[in-house]
Amino acid sequence: MTYCSRCGKELAPEAYFCPNCGVRTEGGVRAGVNYPGVEDLRQTFNRVGEEMEKAFSTVGSELREAFKTTSQNVKEAYYGEPITCPQCGDKNTRDASYCRKCGKKL
Ligand SMILES: [Zn+2]
Ligand SMILES: [Zn+2]
Repeated sequence: MTYCSRCGKELAPEAYFCPNCGVRTEGGVRAGVNYPGVEDLRQTFNRVGEEMEKAFSTVGSELREAFKTTSQNVKEAYYGEPITCPQCGDKNTRDASYCRKCGKKL
Protein backbone atom coordinates (compact mmCIF):
# COMPACT_ATOMS: atom_id res chain seq x y z
CA MET A 1 0.00 0.00 0.00
CA THR A 2 1.27 3.46 -0.85
CA TYR A 3 0.44 6.71 0.86
CA CYS A 4 0.32 10.26 -0.35
CA SER A 5 3.60 12.05 0.29
CA ARG A 6 1.76 15.28 1.06
CA CYS A 7 -1.37 14.40 3.02
CA GLY A 8 -0.73 10.77 3.94
CA LYS A 9 -3.94 9.41 2.44
CA GLU A 10 -3.94 5.79 1.33
CA LEU A 11 -3.51 5.55 -2.43
CA ALA A 12 -4.54 2.89 -4.90
CA PRO A 13 -1.33 1.43 -6.35
CA GLU A 14 -2.25 2.65 -9.83
CA ALA A 15 -3.41 6.13 -8.80
CA TYR A 16 -1.45 8.89 -10.47
CA PHE A 17 -2.80 11.65 -8.30
CA CYS A 18 -3.84 11.73 -4.70
CA PRO A 19 -7.67 11.74 -4.61
CA ASN A 20 -7.55 13.87 -1.47
CA CYS A 21 -5.08 16.68 -2.16
CA GLY A 22 -4.28 16.28 -5.86
CA VAL A 23 -0.55 15.82 -5.54
CA ARG A 24 1.05 13.60 -8.15
CA THR A 25 2.01 10.19 -6.81
CA GLU A 26 5.27 8.35 -7.34
CA GLY A 27 3.43 6.10 -9.77
CA GLY A 28 2.22 9.14 -11.69
CA VAL A 29 5.74 10.50 -11.89
CA ARG A 30 7.11 7.16 -13.03
CA ALA A 31 4.45 6.51 -15.65
CA GLY A 32 4.18 10.08 -16.91
CA VAL A 33 0.78 11.63 -16.35
CA ASN A 34 -0.43 11.60 -19.94
CA TYR A 35 0.65 8.04 -20.55
CA PRO A 36 -2.01 6.58 -22.87
CA GLY A 37 -3.81 3.30 -22.43
CA VAL A 38 -3.62 3.25 -18.70
CA GLU A 39 -5.42 0.25 -17.36
CA ASP A 40 -8.69 1.04 -15.69
CA LEU A 41 -8.74 0.67 -11.96
CA ARG A 42 -11.85 -1.47 -12.13
CA GLN A 43 -10.20 -3.97 -14.48
CA THR A 44 -7.22 -4.16 -12.21
CA PHE A 45 -9.43 -4.72 -9.24
CA ASN A 46 -11.39 -7.43 -11.02
CA ARG A 47 -8.23 -9.20 -12.09
CA VAL A 48 -6.88 -9.17 -8.57
CA GLY A 49 -10.25 -10.38 -7.36
CA GLU A 50 -10.25 -13.25 -9.83
CA GLU A 51 -6.79 -14.32 -8.83
CA MET A 52 -7.76 -14.24 -5.21
CA GLU A 53 -10.84 -16.28 -5.99
CA LYS A 54 -8.63 -18.82 -7.73
CA ALA A 55 -6.41 -18.93 -4.71
CA PHE A 56 -9.44 -19.36 -2.51
CA SER A 57 -10.84 -22.14 -4.69
CA THR A 58 -8.67 -24.62 -2.82
CA VAL A 59 -10.29 -23.79 0.50
CA GLY A 60 -13.69 -24.77 1.83
CA SER A 61 -16.90 -23.39 0.33
CA GLU A 62 -17.77 -21.52 3.51
CA LEU A 63 -14.59 -19.53 3.35
CA ARG A 64 -15.11 -18.98 -0.34
CA GLU A 65 -18.57 -17.54 0.28
CA ALA A 66 -17.20 -15.29 2.99
CA PHE A 67 -14.54 -14.05 0.63
CA LYS A 68 -17.08 -13.39 -2.13
CA THR A 69 -19.27 -11.35 0.20
CA THR A 70 -16.33 -9.38 1.50
CA SER A 71 -15.04 -8.81 -1.99
CA GLN A 72 -18.46 -7.55 -3.10
CA ASN A 73 -18.75 -5.22 -0.12
CA VAL A 74 -15.34 -3.80 -0.79
CA LYS A 75 -16.21 -3.24 -4.44
CA GLU A 76 -19.43 -1.48 -3.55
CA ALA A 77 -17.76 0.69 -0.95
CA TYR A 78 -15.00 1.53 -3.34
CA TYR A 79 -16.93 2.08 -6.54
CA GLY A 80 -20.32 3.24 -5.32
CA GLU A 81 -21.47 6.35 -7.17
CA PRO A 82 -18.17 7.23 -8.80
CA ILE A 83 -17.38 10.82 -9.72
CA THR A 84 -16.62 11.24 -13.41
CA CYS A 85 -13.83 13.70 -14.10
CA PRO A 86 -15.08 16.55 -16.35
CA GLN A 87 -11.65 16.84 -17.93
CA CYS A 88 -10.52 13.29 -18.72
CA GLY A 89 -13.65 11.25 -17.99
CA ASP A 90 -11.93 8.98 -15.53
CA LYS A 91 -14.07 7.57 -12.73
CA ASN A 92 -12.96 8.65 -9.29
CA THR A 93 -14.13 7.44 -5.92
CA ARG A 94 -16.76 9.44 -4.04
CA ASP A 95 -14.36 10.91 -1.51
CA ALA A 96 -11.98 12.16 -4.19
CA SER A 97 -11.36 15.90 -4.34
CA TYR A 98 -9.00 15.66 -7.29
CA CYS A 99 -8.99 13.41 -10.34
CA ARG A 100 -6.59 10.54 -9.83
CA LYS A 101 -5.55 10.53 -13.48
CA CYS A 102 -5.25 14.18 -14.53
CA GLY A 103 -5.27 15.99 -11.19
CA LYS A 104 -8.24 18.24 -11.94
CA LYS A 105 -10.20 19.44 -8.93
CA LEU A 106 -13.52 17.61 -8.83
ZN1 LIG B 1 -2.67 13.78 -0.80
ZN1 LIG C 1 -9.33 13.73 -14.92
